[in-house]
Amino acid sequence: MEKREFGIIGLGKFGMSLGQSLRSHGQIVVGVDSDPDKVKAASEFLTQSYLAEATDKVALKQLHFSDFGEVIVSTGKSMEASVLITLFLKELGCRRVTVKAISRDHEKVLRKVGADEVIFPERYAADQLAAKLAVPGLIDYLPLGHNVILKELVVERWAAKTLRELNLTNSFGIQVVAVKTVGEKNFIFVPRADRPLQRGDVLAVIGQGESLADLNS
Ligand code: ADP
Repeated sequence: MEKREFGIIGLGKFGMSLGQSLRSHGQIVVGVDSDPDKVKAASEFLTQSYLAEATDKVALKQLHFSDFGEVIVSTGKSMEASVLITLFLKELGCRRVTVKAISRDHEKVLRKVGADEVIFPERYAADQLAAKLAVPGLIDYLPLGHNVILKELVVERWAAKTLRELNLTNSFGIQVVAVKTVGEKNFIFVPRADRPLQRGDVLAVIGQGESLADLNS
């Protein structure tokens, strides 16, 4: 995988998890926090971590974040800090700045000072969880619009039939992208169309939410 450099300002709940996750994807991550304990804890996980007050433009400049592909700001409840930091990062020439916001008004101000992306991780996580609770078997919503979802279906009625015979695309407007054979742990992508399905096989299918609701598989 291509290695890219990321700066993270604020190594609290969100910043630290994001940094660890980026590292697990093999990326280079430099973190900054004004709390020495956070910097110490992060030094175990991140490529580099620095103690700095990020609202200090001079300190921010010394970090050379403008050389990085992306900087993420997650400084918790203080709107003032995240707004100032975003403003300075953009003034210093950072290409992409993503900021965690705490309210819609906060988002508006962040956009005015140049934030390229504003995120609400708690809201996003709540939406994802609500969707999974409301649609059993849902794996994910795909960012294709038109309520397109990826969902698991367990084979019962379709047992002994092949995907070719079932002709699901024409009959129901859905596509099978992977099959997990009963007793197996992993999905096989691009499943064979001529293998008879067995009761208990799991199909990962893409389709519109309406087409997939109450489908008797
Ligand atoms: P979040 O949900 O954004 O992760 P947290 O309160 O868990 O919120 O973490 C925010 C982090 O940002 C803390 O570790 C805090 O020390 C750090 N922080 C806040 N303001 C600044 C600042 N001006 N400069 C550097 N770090 C900051």
